[in-house]
Amino acid sequence: MKKEKRIKKDEKILKKFIEVYCKENHIKKGTKVYRDGYCKECYELLQYSLERLYNCPLDPKPQCKHCKIHCYKPQMRQKIKEVMKFSGMYFLKRGRLDWIFHYFF
Ligand SMILES: [Zn+2]
Repeated sequence: MKKEKRIKKDEKILKKFIEVYCKENHIKKGTKVYRDGYCKECYELLQYSLERLYNCPLDPKPQCKHCKIHCYKPQMRQKIKEVMKFSGMYFLKRGRLDWIFHYFF
């Protein structure tokens, strides 16, 4: 897959995963929407993750758990892990296996 196309796909999945996580864990529980349907914390996490994605020097980008660089700050890494776990299960239950196996942590 071409790099640009792959990044577009990863970007789409990243957005979906954080969106679902935020909706279920924050917005539904009363956290205020900050931008594009995300709360402030999740919006910042998304921006941070997208930045890492665009700047990933490895091509093809490996799954992050198999990566030797670990470019996420520990705190952000912890957050995105939680998002992946939660939304991974969410999409798994809805049959989006193609998204799960492709992704990340
Ligand atoms: Zn949130």
